[in-house]
Amino acid sequence: MNARETETRFPLQVALVSLPWQLYDRPSIQLGALKAYVEREHPRVAATTHSFYLMIAEALGFALYGRISLARWAGECIYAALVYPDRSRAAEALFESEDHLHNLRRGLSHQTSFPDLCKTVQRATDSLIGSVDWDRYDIVGVTITFNQLLSSIYFIRQLKVRFPEIPIIVGGTTFFRGRAGDWLAAFPEVDFVVTGEGESPLLSILEWLSERPNRGPTHPDVHCRLHGTFPNTTTALKECEIRALPAPDYTEYFERLGTVTSQQRFFPSLPVEGARGCPYASNVNSKKERGCAFCNMNHQWLRYRKKKPDQMVGEIAKLINRHQILKINILDNYLSPTMADKLFAGLRKLGKDVHVFPSVRAETSKEVLYRIQSGGGKGVQVGIEALSTALLKRMGKKIKAIDNLRIMRDCEELGLICQANMILGFPGSTETEVAETLRCISYANVFRPLNPNWFWLGAGSRIWRDQDQFGIFGVRNHDNYRVLLPESIANSVLLPQQSYDVDEEDLEALWSPVHKALIQWTDSYNSIRSTPYSPPLLYYQDGGDFLIVTHLNVNGDSTTRRLSKSARDLYLMCLRPRHLEEIESEFPRVSREVLASTLRQLTSAMLIYEEEGFYLSLAVRRR
Ligand code: SF4
Repeated sequence: MNARETETRFPLQVALVSLPWQLYDRPSIQLGALKAYVEREHPRVAATTHSFYLMIAEALGFALYGRISLARWAGECIYAALVYPDRSRAAEALFESEDHLHNLRRGLSHQTSFPDLCKTVQRATDSLIGSVDWDRYDIVGVTITFNQLLSSIYFIRQLKVRFPEIPIIVGGTTFFRGRAGDWLAAFPEVDFVVTGEGESPLLSILEWLSERPNRGPTHPDVHCRLHGTFPNTTTALKECEIRALPAPDYTEYFERLGTVTSQQRFFPSLPVEGARGCPYASNVNSKKERGCAFCNMNHQWLRYRKKKPDQMVGEIAKLINRHQILKINILDNYLSPTMADKLFAGLRKLGKDVHVFPSVRAETSKEVLYRIQSGGGKGVQVGIEALSTALLKRMGKKIKAIDNLRIMRDCEELGLICQANMILGFPGSTETEVAETLRCISYANVFRPLNPNWFWLGAGSRIWRDQDQFGIFGVRNHDNYRVLLPESIANSVLLPQQSYDVDEEDLEALWSPVHKALIQWTDSYNSIRSTPYSPPLLYYQDGGDFLIVTHLNVNGDSTTRRLSKSARDLYLMCLRPRHLEEIESEFPRVSREVLASTLRQLTSAMLIYEEEGFYLSLAVRRR
C-alpha cells in the first residue's frame, strides 16, 4: 500500500461504495449503517456513500437489472467478461444458461446480446467512476455481499489504475474469518480486508489513518497489507452493542433516486435492522454445532443480539418521516415472537399504513401472526424448507411437517402471504423422504404454494463444516467460479458458493416428482385464487352446533360437507396439532373406536392431516 505522503487532512474523507447486483429497490443497509456509525463515533471523519448499483440499474433498465440481480450467476458473468476479457466466451455461455433458467431478457423489445449488455454495464460503471473526484478521499471502502464480487473487482481495479495511492478496504459477507489473508495475497489492489461486522473494524482503520503509526490497525477483524505477511488468523469475539448503533443514513440513495427520470421512478423499501445473528445458530459458549444445517447467513455474527422493540419502532418512525416511504424491509434473519409481538403493537400505534414483510420461524403462533398482520404485516417469510419430518430433522429444523402445515394454514386464514421455499435435492435424501414430501403436498396444496429451491452449498454452513455427517465430499469453491475467475484466484480464496460431490445416484432425478408437484400446485392455486376476492381452496363456516366445510378443486368444482356437532368440536379442537391422547381426554364420553373412525374419515377426505398420532385440521375459517 502506498499510503499518501502528504499530511493528514481533516476531516478524513471516506467513500463507501456498493456495486451491482445489490437489489436496486432499496438503499444499502451496509452503507447507511457504516456512514451513520463512523460519523457519530469519529468527529473528524466525513463519510460519503455511493450507491452505484442504483444508477447502473437505471442505465440497464430496472426490470432487466432486477431479474439479473435475482439470478445466481448472471450478474457475475457480465462483470467477469469485463474484468477478464479472455473469459468472456465462457462467461457468455454461463449467462445464457442462466437466461434459459430465469428468462432474464423477457419483455425486451429487441434481443439484447450478452456483449451489448456488457457494453452498457461497462459504460455506466466507467461513467460513474469518472463522475467522482476520488482524489478528495483518504480511503475507499467497498461492501461485497452476494453477487457483488466481480463488479467490485472491476471497480477496484479501475480505481487503482487511476488512483493507486488511495487505500482500499473490502468487507461484507463474502469474507470469512480465518481466510482473510488469502484475499490480500490474491488481490494486490486491496489494502484491508474486514471480517465480521463492519462498524468497529472500519472505525479502527480510520483511527489508524488519522494517527498513522508505523504498524497497521490492530483490530482482530482487520487484516492489513501493511503487516507484510497475510496470515489467515481467526479472530477474537469483538462485536458491537447493537442497541447503541445509530439509525442508518440513507440520504445519498434518496438523492440519487431523485435524479431518476420520473417515468422510471419507483417507491423503494426502507431496510431496518432489529437484530444480528440467530439464537438457533449462535452460542459462543456451546461446543455443539447448532442452527439449520444449510444456513450460512450467520457466519459474520458470533452472538444473537437484538434492539429493544421501542427503539426499533422509533427508528422506523424516523425513517418513514424522513423519506416518506411506508414499505419497511426488516432484514433480521430471525424475528423472535416477543420482538414481533411488541414491535407490531408499536407499529400499529404509529397510526400509519406501513407495509412490512418479516422473516419468522414456523413455530410462530397464530396470535403473533395476527399481531404482525394488524401492525402492518402483509406477509411473512417463513423457514418451511421441507415437508418431510425425517428430512427436517436432518436439516436441524426441530419442527415437524405438521407444524409447517399449521403456519401455512394460519397465514392463509389471516390473509398473510406465506412466502416460503422448499429445498430440493438436500444431500442424503431418501426415497422415503421424497414419498413423505409428496404425501404432505397432496394435503398442503390448498395453501399458498412453496417455491422450489434446489439445494446449494454455502461456505460457513453447518453442512459445509461437517461434511462427513451429511455424506458430502470433494468440497470446493463452486465450479462456476472456475469459469469466471483465473484458476489461481478460484483455488486460493474461500468463496460463498461451493460445489461438492455425493455418493447418491442422482438427487435431481429423485426430487424431480416433487419439483413437478410444486409447479402443478402453483398453477392450480393461482388459477383458483386469481383475484383477491377468490375464496380459500379449503374453508369452513361455523354453524355453532354444526360445521360446513367446502373444498374447491382446480376444475372449478367444489365439494361441501356438513359435520355434526361432535365432529365440529373435534375439528375445531385440531386447529393446532393435537395428539390422539389429548383428543381422547377432551371427549371422554366418545369411545376410542368412534374417535379413531371419525379422524380416519376426515383424514381420507383431506380435511385433516395426520402425522405420528397428531392431527391438524386444514380448513380455514370463512365468515
Ligand atoms: S435458517 Fe433461520 S432459523 Fe435457521 S439458523 Fe439460519 S437464520 Fe437461524
